[in-house]
Amino acid sequence: MAEQRSGTGVNPTTMTEIVRFHGHMCPGLAMGIRAAEVALREVGPHSSDEEVVALTETDMCGVDAIQYLTGCTFGKGNLIHLDYGKNAYTFMRRSDGRAVRVSARPGAFDRSPEHDELSSRVRNGGGTEEEQARYKELRANRTEAILRAPEEELYAIEELEDAEVPPTARIHDSVACAGCGELTMETRVRKLEGRALCPSCFEAASSR
Ligand SMILES: [Zn+2]
Ligand SMILES: [Zn+2]
Repeated sequence: MAEQRSGTGVNPTTMTEIVRFHGHMCPGLAMGIRAAEVALREVGPHSSDEEVVALTETDMCGVDAIQYLTGCTFGKGNLIHLDYGKNAYTFMRRSDGRAVRVSARPGAFDRSPEHDELSSRVRNGGGTEEEQARYKELRANRTEAILRAPEEELYAIEELEDAEVPPTARIHDSVACAGCGELTMETRVRKLEGRALCPSCFEAASSR
């Protein structure tokens, strides 16, 4: 494995663009940036002739950095969400099957007790102005610490042998829902009493 970075190598211009894409800078985004950097180094960026697929086990802030930096996006079908609630990502390259799983080390993402305590108060709209300012400060410090930390303190990086690369996104036909009439991908249509329904009409009809 190539030499690991001691801190983020993302330049300030790109950093500004990532923050604009996500909407704010936060510890979660910082973790995503560091994971994306591992992907870029170990597997490479997505491009039309070198397709990279990302499997993300979280749907939190960090995924935006993954999308922005690696080029794996929901719209292209090469970003797949596994709802495991873990700060972990797998990146795979179709050309040679190279695959790497990047998972947050236990403790890498922990907040200090003060930060935790303030967080629960401030998040519910409570806390004094002073406490809110302190919370902001702790959050910014933590983001900075994540961006500066040695990579191996944040993530375990594991090369996967014989990983199965998911099939490429297929184009499916659409059919009109018998309830609302909206065109729905045929693989999502469900039958109820002989009627082909979209997921929302199916749910509404079957919960009556
Ligand atoms: Zn965020
Ligand atoms: Zn419908």
